[in-house]
Amino acid sequence: KGERLRLPPWVKTEIPIGKNYNRLKNTLRDLNLHTVCEEARCPNIGECWGGGEYATATATIMLMGDTCTRGCRFCSIKTARQPPPLDPDEPYNTAKAIAAWGLDYVVLTSVDRDDIADGGAEHFAKTVSYLKERNPRILVECLTPDFRGDMASVEKVVLSGLDVYAHNVETVRELQRRVRDARANFDQSLSVLKHAKEVKPSVLTKTALMLGLGETDQQILNSLTELREVGVDCLTIGQYMQPTKRSLKVEQYVTPEKFAYWEKVGNEMGFVYTASGPLVRSSYKAGEFFLKNLLS
Ligand code: SF4
Ligand code: SF4
Repeated sequence: KGERLRLPPWVKTEIPIGKNYNRLKNTLRDLNLHTVCEEARCPNIGECWGGGEYATATATIMLMGDTCTRGCRFCSIKTARQPPPLDPDEPYNTAKAIAAWGLDYVVLTSVDRDDIADGGAEHFAKTVSYLKERNPRILVECLTPDFRGDMASVEKVVLSGLDVYAHNVETVRELQRRVRDARANFDQSLSVLKHAKEVKPSVLTKTALMLGLGETDQQILNSLTELREVGVDCLTIGQYMQPTKRSLKVEQYVTPEKFAYWEKVGNEMGFVYTASGPLVRSSYKAGEFFLKNLLS
């Protein structure tokens, strides 16, 4: 106990680089956009930025700064009780930059800002509406905080003109307390996802789970069942990787076969799509999956 597990080969494999990758990489410099893809050194960048069969470049942009008011045990982001105030020009400038960048699908996400009355909902909503004004064809997903369960905030974001509303439950019900910040919990996250679907049923809802934190198969199955019960449409499942020495340890490296099994289970349970694999992250090839399912 206490020893770190060895990395299995399937989490170290080289990932192919799609054809748009260099174009996006070269045009990013002057735009002053903070992509999670680059800052988190995401292993999927070649695939997401490069696009796939449906020529869809996906990237994830971080709003509202780099400092979070929460401290989840799986996350390496900086924390403070009172992060710097929001930049009021960020929604407009970010929308302008994204529209100029040439993406097909963008994921807008943020740190949790419990210090702000609406948790930053208005900030998200403005960014989406400016972006859709400039580029009505771009598909927009917001990966949001739980807004402390404040449904007015959820509604503001859902009604902003986005296509996909994502909020991550992160882990099974039983491990919430150990993995996430004490202000987060499974029921609150379920209610956010449920409400988003009820407010605007045509918006797709989406969530993500990390495996390898000590969860059992039965716990995974129960959590998936609960997610389907509140109408969640899309599901991603990936391996938890320990980001810093102080973060939670990996309890288990789940095999690619087992991930494939969960993908099959997800599809059988009626999720519109399930992406499950060791390197899958919540925004992994999101545009590719979205269009593929929309067009098929
Ligand atoms: Fe990280 Fe999000 Fe948790 Fe903040 S709320 S610590 S950004 S996972
Ligand atoms: Fe960016 Fe998400 Fe794709 Fe990683 S998985 S490259 S963070 S869009």
